[in-house]
Amino acid sequence: MWAPLQCLQMTILLSSVARGFFVAPSTTALRRLSRPSDSDFDVHSGALLAPILIPRVPGTPGSLKVLRHFQDFFGNSLPDWSVTTQNSSYTTPLSKGKKIPFVNFVATKDPPWVAPGDVGRLVLVAHYDSKLTPEGFIGATDSAAPCAIILQVARSIDAALTRRWKKLKEEGDEMAMEEERGVMVLLLDGEEAWQSWTDTDSLYGARDLAQHWESQYHAPLSARKTHLANIDLFILLDLLGSAAPKIPSYFPTTHWAYTGFAHLEQQLRAEGLFASHKANPGSWFHEVDKDKGQWYGGMVQDDHVPFMQRGVEVLHIIPSPFPRVWHEMIDDGDHLDMDTVKDWAVLTTAWMVGALGLEDYLESPAPAPGRRGTKTEL
Ligand SMILES: [Zn+2]
Repeated sequence: MWAPLQCLQMTILLSSVARGFFVAPSTTALRRLSRPSDSDFDVHSGALLAPILIPRVPGTPGSLKVLRHFQDFFGNSLPDWSVTTQNSSYTTPLSKGKKIPFVNFVATKDPPWVAPGDVGRLVLVAHYDSKLTPEGFIGATDSAAPCAIILQVARSIDAALTRRWKKLKEEGDEMAMEEERGVMVLLLDGEEAWQSWTDTDSLYGARDLAQHWESQYHAPLSARKTHLANIDLFILLDLLGSAAPKIPSYFPTTHWAYTGFAHLEQQLRAEGLFASHKANPGSWFHEVDKDKGQWYGGMVQDDHVPFMQRGVEVLHIIPSPFPRVWHEMIDDGDHLDMDTVKDWAVLTTAWMVGALGLEDYLESPAPAPGRRGTKTEL
């Protein structure tokens, strides 16, 4: 992403602030959230993270490998999610007239009774491509770690979602069933500029997908007109994995969701469930009390832009300032702060539990480490 005017602030009148649907989980529920394990998050051998820590420029073998990793993950661990890709191709300023393929990865889990035109979804988003230069660039925070965090979150809420939907169906409360939301994981290709950031040399995958979904209509009389309208909240994670991030609240209409993250962060810290707390006790979500005045929304160019331009609600989770390693060769696995990466997975899982009403559907606490049957899922 790119922030030409990071220091500039923009004032937006708080004319219409959307009402949220977040209910904070209890401390008991937070204690039930398992942390990611090293077997998934070790930077050299972790099953979720390590396969993404390779150069993955669009159209190269590395990109294809990472795409297969996502497909294998869902195929093996979350087989009832519906998985697809959305493809496009564009020339870039450096491709000498050759079209480069861009492949967005999309995985969805919806309530089993819902028609495609009637469901609203929480969409967890990160980009999986890496920057062409400097040669060999890994992009651990940009955005390998956010991709792995999202995979971990999806797996962590999967069983609880299934249990909740089974119970709702048994109870037969039609109004509750109608309001139930689904979840989507969206891992986008071609976020990075090939040469230097412009409106046409950046966001290749996101621009094509937003346009495509806007023109995909549901059946007549559906509650949602287009595929784009299925998105209730676009939660974009980017540049995460360095210690002590400072996350601004960018948009007044999604400040309720930001506030949910902020409260959960404080709760997790207070309960000793934030491993990075000792080294960095300062708040990540430090703008919780902001209720009017200056908002940065739209100043940081990122994958949300083509969706935001079409009216989609966005929660942009990106630090300002950017991490020190941003677009440098040292943005690699060895420079990730692993306590912070794992804390992000726990915090985001906790937020999804609150937003999807999963508190009563979590499993009992996982057995102590070292015992057989230790689980990373809830
Ligand atoms: Zn980048």
